[in-house]
Amino acid sequence: MNMKKVMSGVLALLLACSMLLGNVYAFADDSGWDTPPVCLEHNFVRMPVKPATTKEDGYSEIHCKNCDAVLDDGSRQVIPSIKSVTLSCTQYTYDGKAKTPKVTVKDRTGKVIAAENYTVSYVNNKAAGKNTYAKIVFKGNYSGEMTAKFSILLAKPAKPKVSAKTSASAVKLSWKKVTGAQYYRIYSYNTSTKQYKGIANTKNLSYTVKKLKAGTTYYYLVRSFYVMSNNEKSYSPYTVKDNVKAVTLCAAPRVKASVSGKTVTLKWAKCANAKFYKVFQYNAKTKKYTALKRTTALSAKLSAQAVGTHYYLVRAYNSASTGSAYSTKNLAKAVVKATTTASKTVYITRTGKRYHYDSKCGNGTYYKSTLAQAKKAGLTPCQKCVH
Ligand SMILES: [Zn+2]
Ligand SMILES: [Zn+2]
Repeated sequence: MNMKKVMSGVLALLLACSMLLGNVYAFADDSGWDTPPVCLEHNFVRMPVKPATTKEDGYSEIHCKNCDAVLDDGSRQVIPSIKSVTLSCTQYTYDGKAKTPKVTVKDRTGKVIAAENYTVSYVNNKAAGKNTYAKIVFKGNYSGEMTAKFSILLAKPAKPKVSAKTSASAVKLSWKKVTGAQYYRIYSYNTSTKQYKGIANTKNLSYTVKKLKAGTTYYYLVRSFYVMSNNEKSYSPYTVKDNVKAVTLCAAPRVKASVSGKTVTLKWAKCANAKFYKVFQYNAKTKKYTALKRTTALSAKLSAQAVGTHYYLVRAYNSASTGSAYSTKNLAKAVVKATTTASKTVYITRTGKRYHYDSKCGNGTYYKSTLAQAKKAGLTPCQKCVH
């Protein structure tokens, strides 16, 4: 049998079958057959022809997955446009963990769009104070992108507990470290305008306000704060009850002492804003002060002071009942001399040129006399027992 005859017979058979089954087979070859491809069995599914966007509705049709056939004219359906994106949470407190709020997307009819129609990614969702958002990229029945902002804030730092120490012209504010705070801002508070004025920022745990008036009441507040990566600052709150009151000390009075007999009189000039004064005696050996009296007057009379040299200090007290500084440079010196009276008993010898207070001062035989008689006789005081 001829090979060519066999081949033409097979071809004729295939052609006959093809005609018999209708347009089932297509010959996509160079043999001259030009029939468009058709399915043996259509696989119809609904698919978006024009995906919806945030601006426009789209539509879907029932198409054959394999060929381009459309089911029928009534298969077209509108896909309503995208209306909104909401997040399950829009504000987080920084804790070092990535934040992934749940995304809900709705179309213009209020229907929730199924999650298979988009993918969500998060931008800057770990650090605080950045441009943080969820990015929604649509697919399937929808196209386009949307973003939804949310924020991650550092927790407000705690309020520092402030204590104040005053001198006559300065207030030193001190506080303990607030966990995580980077800086502290010091404010002075005006009680009449009820306003705070920032006066300094510091990293330190104390701040001294200088050039203040003596005996005057001041109010301060310290806030701790962080600076976030977008340069926003997160401050501990202002609350009036956290104001710290500081009353500067009065200036230490300059005292002048005068002595009359055993009475020492102290006088001083009025000190600004002083409510009262206290008089102290200073012991130069022990370097200690002993309170003698309290007064609102500008002088003090101290009777029955012992013979000898005395040092006194007067402290002026402010409205917080805190006294002006203990300051040795403001001590007043007073010398109380032994009182001598004409009738005072002295001791003399028959031949001596001195008079004595002590009857056993030397080895001589002493006779009682009076100071007046001894002086009249031209005797001079003994260097040893008469001061
Ligand atoms: Zn098909
Ligand atoms: Zn003597």
